[in-house]
Amino acid sequence: DPRLAGIAASIRVIPDFPKAGIMFQDITTLLLDVKAFRDTIDLFVDRYKDKGISVVAGIEARGFIFGPPIALAIGAKFVPLRKPKKLPGEVISEEYSLEYGTDKIEMHVGAVEAGERALIVDDLIATGGTLNAAIRLLERVGVEVYECACLMELPELKGRERLGDKPLFVLVQSS
Ligand code: 5GP
Repeated sequence: DPRLAGIAASIRVIPDFPKAGIMFQDITTLLLDVKAFRDTIDLFVDRYKDKGISVVAGIEARGFIFGPPIALAIGAKFVPLRKPKKLPGEVISEEYSLEYGTDKIEMHVGAVEAGERALIVDDLIATGGTLNAAIRLLERVGVEVYECACLMELPELKGRERLGDKPLFVLVQSS
């Protein structure tokens, strides 16, 4: 698709952020490019409309930028999956491992019902730990995860392998 080159070009790389050796993929420059941002949402909406998806689950923080416009366009509700202690109501949580230690994501109890079909959205998959935890969180409450969708994948980190047989759709890949 000819739109993908413009999307890829609009993502800026910041070396050594947040620490030395990391090449941070900065999607805020994509948001400044009206065509690239619109094309991004359109590509996801074309893929996910009419698929019976009733939930778009967005991962904090950048899944909160891309998830809601997709949810509105396909007629699904939006559910934020948040870092610990951010959601005010009763939550369920799933832990995942980081390079050093662990982290958690949380979802409000009652946000989704068993039998619903969900799309999980984030900006980027690196090791896949975050998406893996998001899948477990939704499946624990009986939700069918249709697919995970990210703007970008870092294929060298093999995050895709951590998703098991769950499909992952990405717009662009980066080294
Ligand atoms: P993973 O759990 O796959 O290792 O890491 C993915 C999570 O970290 C995502 O929520 C993503 O937003 C964030 N992340 C890791 N590296 C980058 C990066 O280079 N750019 C951006 N925008 N997010 C990143």
